[in-house]
Amino acid sequence: MENHNNISMHGGHNDSIGCSVSECKFNDKADKYCTLQKIEVVKHETEAKTPECTDCGSFVKAN
Ligand code: SF4
Repeated sequence: MENHNNISMHGGHNDSIGCSVSECKFNDKADKYCTLQKIEVVKHETEAKTPECTDCGSFVKAN
């Protein structure tokens, strides 16, 4: 089974996932990182051709 725990967590966030989406409940706004161990990156076009065609599928709106 794949080990998802072998990541670098620092100050409560995942050093491997930088993110500036401050509206997300999982965002570490102070340091601009994601706090999840793993995210799902998705596309919203049939064929992704630019960065704008991709999204974070793990986003959840903060209260
Ligand atoms: S879940 Fe996605 S949008 Fe939310 S903080 Fe993590 S990477 Fe950013």
